[in-house]
Amino acid sequence: MNTIHKSVDPESIDTSVMDEAGSIIRSGGLVAFPTETVYGLGGDALNPASSRKIYEAKGRPSDNPLIVHIADMGDLEKIAEDIPDVAYALADRYWPGPLTMIFKKNSVVPSETTGGLDTVAVRFPSHPVAQAFIRAAGGYIAAPSANISGRPSPTTGDHVRADMDGRIDMIIDSGPCDIGLESTIIDLSSDVPMMLRPGFVSADMLREVLDELDTDPAVYREVGPDTKPKAPGMKYRHYAPKGKVTIVSGKKDDVVRYIREKLDEDSGRVKTAVLSDSDDREQYERADLVADMGDRNDEAAIASRLYDVLRKCDDEDIEEIYSEEFNTPQLGQAIMNRLIKAAGHNIVKV
Ligand code: AMP
Ligand code: MG
Repeated sequence: MNTIHKSVDPESIDTSVMDEAGSIIRSGGLVAFPTETVYGLGGDALNPASSRKIYEAKGRPSDNPLIVHIADMGDLEKIAEDIPDVAYALADRYWPGPLTMIFKKNSVVPSETTGGLDTVAVRFPSHPVAQAFIRAAGGYIAAPSANISGRPSPTTGDHVRADMDGRIDMIIDSGPCDIGLESTIIDLSSDVPMMLRPGFVSADMLREVLDELDTDPAVYREVGPDTKPKAPGMKYRHYAPKGKVTIVSGKKDDVVRYIREKLDEDSGRVKTAVLSDSDDREQYERADLVADMGDRNDEAAIASRLYDVLRKCDDEDIEEIYSEEFNTPQLGQAIMNRLIKAAGHNIVKV
């Protein structure tokens, strides 16, 4: 397939590109587009054939439901049922933005889009290009992240091209995503709201609006016979680079010493990388790649670099990846959730 490539400036959106993207979606095609979290792979959420195409283009298991993106608050009630009052309170505070809410779905939403579930995940993104695209396409865009299944989510147009060129109809590139981690997911379809995936909107931020909040144990724990995540996607080893990732946990000095020892052992045998904060980067001179994640106090920078760094490790055929911990105040839970998945729960305590 020949993929159309377009650059769109979020400050001055080219409406002819939006019209073209919209008509591709209306005729059942797929368009990758920017959002404030990561790039999405969009299709018409109300067309079962489009959803099937999304699974195929990503190589994604079809039991893993898609998030439906809207760009008008009034459109929520046309696809969801039993919307609780807290949903409006959360929307007031965090929509448009990086929060996905799960509701009971109505019959307008095909089961292909929801992976066979009777619930639907909905998000109203804040990115102006995402909003213009969704409106031009008829209002309902089903979109997972625009990566091949199992690879880190794309946070730049280059990442999308690397994975999706030739597999979809169009790629809209608006530069790097602001946040760089996927949305927070909260399930509002049962009595007590439950966070299924941490993101930019932290549990503390959700509690500012909610009296009660549960967290799916699968957010922290390895998925085994006893932990079945409520978000089907959380059971897959997502976000994984090809190399083996080891998270080193402990006091700063011990962490640095441990990683340095490992680099000595690996040197000349395997290609190594270290995910380090700016303070420690000079300690890891024996690594083939030192990824400077930024200043520990600038957690937004750490979050927005993570997937790019994991992709760089693949580009450079890195076999052993050591990472410091990044337990920062607001985004730490989301950052560590993604890192722990990339590591397949391989954490060394020193
Ligand atoms: P992605 O589109 O790659 O950001 O992944 C979307 C995530 O949302 C996956 O982990 C899905 O399993 C989850 N998800 C989407 N819809 C639902 C739903 N109705 N119930 C539970 N989880 C959902
Ligand atoms: Mg994804």
